[in-house]
Amino acid sequence: VKEIGLPDRSVVTTCAYCGVGCTFRAEMRGEQLVRMVPWKDGKANRGHSCVKGRFAWGYAQHADRILKPMIRASIDQPWREVEWDEAFAYAASELKRIAAKYGDKALGGITSSRCTNEETFLVQKLIRAGFGNNNVDTCARVCHSPTGYGLKTTFGTSAGTQDFDSVEHSDVMLVIGANPTDGHPVFASRMKRRLRQGAKLIVIDPRRTDLVRSPHIEAAHHLPLRPGTNVAVMTAMAHVIVTEGLANEAFIRERCDWDEYQDWAAFVSEAKHSPETLAAVTGVDPAELRAAARLYATGGNAAIYYGLGVTEHSQGSSTVMAIANLAMVTGNIGRPGVGVNPLRGQNNVQGACDMGSFPHELSGYRHISDAAARKLFEDDWGVPLDPEPGLRIPNMLDAAVDGTFKALYVQGEDILQSDPDTKHVAAGLAAMECVIVHDLFLNETANYAHIFLPGSTFLEKDGTFTNAERRIQPVRKVMSPLNGYSDWEVTQRLAQALGLDWHYTHPSEIMDEIARLTPSFAGVSFDRLDAEGSMQWPVNDAAPDGTPIMHIDGFVRGRGKFVVTDYVPTDERTGPRFPLLLTTGRILSHYNVGAQTRRTANVAWHPEDLLEIHPTDAENRGLNDGDWVKLASRSGETTLRALVTDRVAPGVVYTTFHHPMTQANVVTTDYSDWATNCPEYKVTAVQVSASNGP
Ligand code: SF4
Repeated sequence: VKEIGLPDRSVVTTCAYCGVGCTFRAEMRGEQLVRMVPWKDGKANRGHSCVKGRFAWGYAQHADRILKPMIRASIDQPWREVEWDEAFAYAASELKRIAAKYGDKALGGITSSRCTNEETFLVQKLIRAGFGNNNVDTCARVCHSPTGYGLKTTFGTSAGTQDFDSVEHSDVMLVIGANPTDGHPVFASRMKRRLRQGAKLIVIDPRRTDLVRSPHIEAAHHLPLRPGTNVAVMTAMAHVIVTEGLANEAFIRERCDWDEYQDWAAFVSEAKHSPETLAAVTGVDPAELRAAARLYATGGNAAIYYGLGVTEHSQGSSTVMAIANLAMVTGNIGRPGVGVNPLRGQNNVQGACDMGSFPHELSGYRHISDAAARKLFEDDWGVPLDPEPGLRIPNMLDAAVDGTFKALYVQGEDILQSDPDTKHVAAGLAAMECVIVHDLFLNETANYAHIFLPGSTFLEKDGTFTNAERRIQPVRKVMSPLNGYSDWEVTQRLAQALGLDWHYTHPSEIMDEIARLTPSFAGVSFDRLDAEGSMQWPVNDAAPDGTPIMHIDGFVRGRGKFVVTDYVPTDERTGPRFPLLLTTGRILSHYNVGAQTRRTANVAWHPEDLLEIHPTDAENRGLNDGDWVKLASRSGETTLRALVTDRVAPGVVYTTFHHPMTQANVVTTDYSDWATNCPEYKVTAVQVSASNGP
């Protein structure tokens, strides 16, 4: 206010950082944002906010923003600024040239969970209707794709079961592989309030997160498992519940497939799945695990909250299904205070998945091989659709290295920094003939791009985001796009340059199309969102007012499905050369690869990534707090400073990935989830040694 003056207008919109989806009043003076004020009527935040949403918006008007399109014939040439018309014409000619030379399937695109539902929907439509294939994927591939697979398989739909308000009715919270205090701060506050009122807490995490012990809160049980053993811990908990007669058989008989339950119950009851036997694998005290299982099964309304510590493993999908099994065996589903709640990382992960940006699914999670679903889109769009699933991000990169994938459109995603095995990503990008990066900044991926299309921030567009509780919320244009176009307009101009007959004049028309083609969004419109503030899908004839809690009377798939989830150790093993296990996560003040938060005052709180190492492991290596260390794995090495702390157990080290100079993903492996290819970011065998610095 001191610098810009008092605001003269305000616009209510939705935060573009995490999956909580806080609502803010953006206060403006002319075209200058003065401050973001948490909105008291925001259904997800009720007037609260964190340091990211409230303060980390300076990147929107940062000098690093690229506002003019740029092109270059090869990546060793300098960029040349061009007008939009020339950029679209050049992009279209390159895409057509490559399709003619190598075939349609040499092209693909990546959507972003940072963008609106409408923008994401348009990108997947461009790939399917314009490129003529299903080579479309989203950054959810590297975070919550196992949630999609696991919850769709067991419950019938790929979404969390509860609204945030549900936490007020929980007697027990089981938090596994999530650090809400840093990752989802506003919802973490609601969890803590309920815990201070007396709800009990179980934390399953290799690291002693803030939630384990914070003012007036002490977890009843913290199970510091060995990274990579989630499935074994879930199986051991199920063993206790079934063998001690704590299963809710009435619920199971009424709501689930009984035969499948019996097969699963026989499996988990085997002696080899007892907490005592599995302790050698998990590293968890069997008595603590038994007590935690009993508390979850008998403590009243019990809710499970989980994050990327569940999904980013070679058994990510298995763990999600094991979690669903636990909820079903105890009957903790379909009422307030219970359920399975994935804490979504990015602001619109849920929406990006809902909008059909996976290579095998149309919007609303209908498989591309479903002829009836495909026909709906074909009739609406006037083009035939390929019935074959397309390539996932890692498959696109593999195919590029093999010489069969040649062109990529990447919207709002820095895959070189965020995806695993950086060297392989770079090799894939370098092998392509046309990489189009559509982003705010010249990010690391743009080093390999031939065309750069300037992106717009959430402040410069209309649209919707869908948060972790399936709540569709309005995003409203606060200022004119600095580059002249909102992102949906850029995608439309590219489509038009390719010859597609698109004439949207406002994102509300895109939402009308989404509603027309997506049964769970059938009742959604901008008019209703303006009138009601938000809606939780499904919103349709069966649920005209939306659906805060799912699976109340029956599962979406009919009967709940118990899936046997056998623990399979990751192929990533420690040994004499790489004796420690690295796991990664986020910190409160920063967001993902830090492209936005590093360009704000938040950088002062966390100017570099640090390596947390247990005092014993530090002493064995002669390391002190603040020393430079080399972090090396079979994939690569990087240098960062040590933070000696007993937050991590001996044998485990931990770092964040917010700063490009650290390049944490240089050391992560290319192992991935067996069902979805979600990378195994959370388990890497490493060596840590003293270093003189970078
Ligand atoms: Fe934004 Fe998430 Fe913070 Fe809310 S909790 S202000 S949505 S980053």
